[in-house]
Amino acid sequence: MIHLISEDEFLTRANEIQLQEVSWPLAEKKGIEILFRRDDLIDAYLSGNKFYKLFYNLHAARNLGQQQLVTYGGAYSNHIHATAMAAKLYGFNAVGVIRGERPKVLSPTLLDAESAGMRLHFISRSDYRNNCSLELNRELENLYGDFFEIPEGGANAYGVQGARVIGNAIRQAVKGDYTSICLAAGTANTLAGVAAGLVNTHESYPVANVLGFSVLKGSGVLGEQVCDYQQSINNVSSNWRLISGYHCGGYAKKLPPFLHKFMREFESDTGIQLDPVYTLKMCWGVAQLMLKNYWPSGSRLILIHTGGLQGRRGFNL
Ligand SMILES: *Cc1c(COP(=O)(O)O)cnc(C)c1O
Repeated sequence: MIHLISEDEFLTRANEIQLQEVSWPLAEKKGIEILFRRDDLIDAYLSGNKFYKLFYNLHAARNLGQQQLVTYGGAYSNHIHATAMAAKLYGFNAVGVIRGERPKVLSPTLLDAESAGMRLHFISRSDYRNNCSLELNRELENLYGDFFEIPEGGANAYGVQGARVIGNAIRQAVKGDYTSICLAAGTANTLAGVAAGLVNTHESYPVANVLGFSVLKGSGVLGEQVCDYQQSINNVSSNWRLISGYHCGGYAKKLPPFLHKFMREFESDTGIQLDPVYTLKMCWGVAQLMLKNYWPSGSRLILIHTGGLQGRRGFNL
């Protein structure tokens, strides 16, 4: 049996992630200091926030003696990719339930997942919407046997628990000396965890807000989700805000030209690569807020690079 990394190692690695100062001309013009937390560099195989969200899920599966993981996602999903890599690294079987019919040509993400040994189970978009249904679970069990289920995006209590470690690490590194923390929100599970990790009732540092830039078109229920996720780990906090209006088309597979141009300029100015679905939207949102003078000069922002660079391959960049 291949050992999972221990919790000690997990926490140590999270604490070692660099807060990189970047020179972004727009921020400099506004007198704002930008630090990028490079969680895209947390692991060679499992990138970004998915590394954190999977950690306690994998331990839970192992503790239950479960050899097989089942999870859900689309054809370009960072979560599917990360789960397939984790299964291979740590010796689990994995089934990925994929939204939509099997295409003639698999996406690079799904090709990687399959070569890592994940079995792909395609279901129609309408069946996918009820992806936790009893019938589907029964069908999966009949086909593949017993499994530990991880929801889409790794967004469960174990996911928040893992993401909280990012908030903890930031709190210990900067001790209250920052204005806002910014990150991209899909399910907002990471937002819930990071915000929870920033609060420590035994310390007197000021706790600034975490801004979650929603990448979805309809983000009406996200706020409730943050509350639910935090309740699931008994760590409710109010130091977070959802920012909508900068999703630029949600998960759409084609970038509008203005966004593509912004991405190229940002990457050449800062030397940091973004993924087109999440971190790009966060940076775009941060840029728009800076242009509106949302933050006063002298502010210090921490932007979390939640990874996902494998997803660049699905776009014509
Ligand atoms: C999955 C993902 C997110 C969204 O995380 P949530 O916890 O669902 O909000 C953000 N950034 C990247 C790069 C991701 O892959």
